[in-house]
Amino acid sequence: MKKEIPPTNGLTVELSDLLSFHSTMDLATRLSQLLNIPKPALTCSGTVALIVALQTLQKRQPNRQEVIIPAWTCPLVALAIEKIGLIPILCDLEQASLNLDLCHLQQLTNTNTLAIVVTHFAGLVCDFSLVQEIAQHYQTFIIEDAAQSMGATVSQQSVGLIGDIAFFSMAFGKGLSSAEGGVLFSRHIDLHQDLINNVKKLPVLRSWEIRRSLELIGYSFFYRPTALTFLYGNPLRKALNNHDEIAAVGDDFDLNSIPVHQLGKWRSQVAMRASKRLPEHWQHARTRAKKRIAQLKLLPNLHVFDEFTNTRATFPFLICHVDNQVFTEKILGELWQEGLGITRLFVRSISHYPALSHIQADTPNAIQFAAQSFTISNSVWLDDQHFQSIFKVLERILSS
Ligand SMILES: *Cc1c(COP(=O)(O)O)cnc(C)c1O
Repeated sequence: MKKEIPPTNGLTVELSDLLSFHSTMDLATRLSQLLNIPKPALTCSGTVALIVALQTLQKRQPNRQEVIIPAWTCPLVALAIEKIGLIPILCDLEQASLNLDLCHLQQLTNTNTLAIVVTHFAGLVCDFSLVQEIAQHYQTFIIEDAAQSMGATVSQQSVGLIGDIAFFSMAFGKGLSSAEGGVLFSRHIDLHQDLINNVKKLPVLRSWEIRRSLELIGYSFFYRPTALTFLYGNPLRKALNNHDEIAAVGDDFDLNSIPVHQLGKWRSQVAMRASKRLPEHWQHARTRAKKRIAQLKLLPNLHVFDEFTNTRATFPFLICHVDNQVFTEKILGELWQEGLGITRLFVRSISHYPALSHIQADTPNAIQFAAQSFTISNSVWLDDQHFQSIFKVLERILSS
């Protein structure tokens, strides 16, 4: 049967994880020990973690309405801000970089800025020390969007402990999964307590909980290369054949895509059991990634993003920026539909999604990043032989 490598290195859910009714430890305690972070609040998604973070900050700064986010990120981030009546402000990236453009950020930040969202993409840790200076000047909060980077560290500390608030995602494909889930915390004791209290006030929605529980059971059976051909590969190919890249990568969100409720206990227990395999999962992923990054660095016209000094990444996938758009399109033309775990992360800059096209933006670098980047899965199922066949295609196109 044809194999389909998933686009990220998701942690599998084993049958024994599902049979968890009397565990001795809860997921929040477990994560706080594993990551050495304050015992976090658990939410039904990363997006809802961001919503609670913003509502909590808004109580402290009720006159501030604007939230600055990268102009290339998950569209749910912008939708979350709009859902609670705040205004997303799009900051461009530096050219061919995952960092916010500081000149643009400086222009956008003012006394109406409630928070600046800095994003740790692809299991990496970004350096936002200069963003902190701008934030301090305007007494603006920093939220670390670490949705993709649970387990990443800077100076041997978990990501998320430098800004004011941080969150991880437990959606499918982000590593540890509870079929949608979020992990929210703050290094400030008082702010952290407010987050915990506010998450407790979220409603329990049984129909969503049942749906997600079934999805989690489905994931445990079908997150493997043969089944993913039907559940991931074929729908992807169908959408691409219809020239719908947004649907192909699952970026077709709107305001109705964000249910707000609590994370059910059973699902969090399943994730708690699976989390025991995380340290090894991260370590293997990093070893695999480092070797492949070293090889990719030999290619002309390509930049592969790597750890910066003093940080350790978890590398759920490798993110690559290509010097020109023609090469990018050739690469994706040959590899996107091959079941080898090559895809785009976010296919558009934020204001180029139909659901967000009303947002004013002047963000040429983010537009370019969307057009000239792609990702290579770091799944265990992408073995060395697969990777070498990908490398050969890249080499041929990039050297031509
Ligand atoms: C996935 C993602 C989110 C949203 O997390 P969910 O758990 O899917 O709601 C936010 N930011 C980034 C960068 C993401 O990749």
